[in-house]
Amino acid sequence: MMIVMKEGATDEQVAHVVERIESAGAKAHPSRGEFVTVIGAIGDDREMIASLNLEGEEGVEKVVPILKPYKLVSSDFRGSDRHVEISGRRIGGGTFGLIAGPCAVESREQTLTTARAVRAAGAGFLRGGAFKPRTSPYAFQGMGLPALEILVEAREETGLPIVTEVMNLRHLDDVVEVADVVQIGARNVQNFDLLREVGRAGVPVLLKRGLSTTIEEWLLSAEYVAREGNGDVILCERGIRTFETATRSTLDISAVPVAKGLASLPVIVDPSHAAGRRELILPMARAAVVAGADGLIVEVHPAPETALCDGPQALHAEEFGDWVADVRRCVDLMGKVMAGEEAAVSA
Ligand code: PEP
Ligand code: MN
Repeated sequence: MMIVMKEGATDEQVAHVVERIESAGAKAHPSRGEFVTVIGAIGDDREMIASLNLEGEEGVEKVVPILKPYKLVSSDFRGSDRHVEISGRRIGGGTFGLIAGPCAVESREQTLTTARAVRAAGAGFLRGGAFKPRTSPYAFQGMGLPALEILVEAREETGLPIVTEVMNLRHLDDVVEVADVVQIGARNVQNFDLLREVGRAGVPVLLKRGLSTTIEEWLLSAEYVAREGNGDVILCERGIRTFETATRSTLDISAVPVAKGLASLPVIVDPSHAAGRRELILPMARAAVVAGADGLIVEVHPAPETALCDGPQALHAEEFGDWVADVRRCVDLMGKVMAGEEAAVSA
C-alpha cells in the first residue's frame, strides 16, 4: 500500500500516518520528495492495513495499492529513473557509471596499474574482487582480506570509489568497512540471509542478476535489501544461462528496459561476464548503453594472458582508453553524463 500525502502535508501529519501504520504491525517507509511525501506501508496483513482507512487522515491525498510482488523497489512506489549516490558520485538519473578493473585483486602492482589506467581512461569507479566465487574449488579463490587493503590504497591514489564482492556473512563487516559499493554476485542473488544483512549494513549494493533468475525474482531479491531500510540498490544484468554456448552467457538486453520500467532502481550491464570473450565486449556495451543502461561494469587487466581469473574476457589496460572513447559516444548519444565528470559539465 502506498499513501500519497497532500502537497505541503506537515511533519506531524506524516508522523501520525506512520504511527497508525506501525500500530497495525506493518512497517512504514516514508519517502520525502521535493513537493510530495509518499509512505509505503508494507506488511503481511494487507487487509489489516486497508482497514486502517488512511484516506480519512488529515494530509492524506490518496491510498494506492502496489500490486506488484515487490513494493519498495517498484516504480509504482518511487517512480522510475532514480539514482544511487556513491561517495559523492551517482549512478542513474541521467548519470552513467562506468565501473572498471580486474576480475580479482591479484597483487598490489596489478591492481594499482589497472586502477591508474581505468581512471586515466575515464572510468568513475574501480572494481576488483577480494573473494571470488569460482566454479572449481581448485581455481584461484581470491586473495581475501589483504586484497581489501590494496583496494583502499588504489582508492587513495586514484580517488575512484571501490566496488567489491561479498560472498558470505563472515566477511561482511570487513567488506563493508572498505567498499563504497558492495557487490552481490550472480550466485548469491538468492542468498536471502546475505541480502538482509547487506540491507542492514546500509552501504550501496550492486545486485547481479542470477544465471537463471527471472526479472521478477531478481527484483524480489532487491526488495530484501530495501526492506531493511537500504534502497540504494543498483541492478546489474550480467547474462543468463540459455541453450546457447557460443558465448559464456546470453546477455539479456531486454532486461534493461524491462527492469527499468518495473523498478525505480538504476540498471547497469556487465558485458564481460555475459560475453566471456574480449572482442564481444564493445558491441555488447554499445548495445547496453543505447538500450538505456545507467552504467557498465567491465573487467580490465594489465596482462590478461597471465590473469588468475577471467583473463579471456579482460580488456587490455593499455587499450582501455580507446574502448572508453567509443562507449562514450553512445553515452553522449543518450544525453547522459559520465559519473565523475558531472562537475566538469555543470562548471
Ligand atoms: C564478477 O563480477 O567477477 C563475478 C564473479 O560476476 P558474476 O557474479 O556476475 O558471475
Ligand atoms: Mn570475473
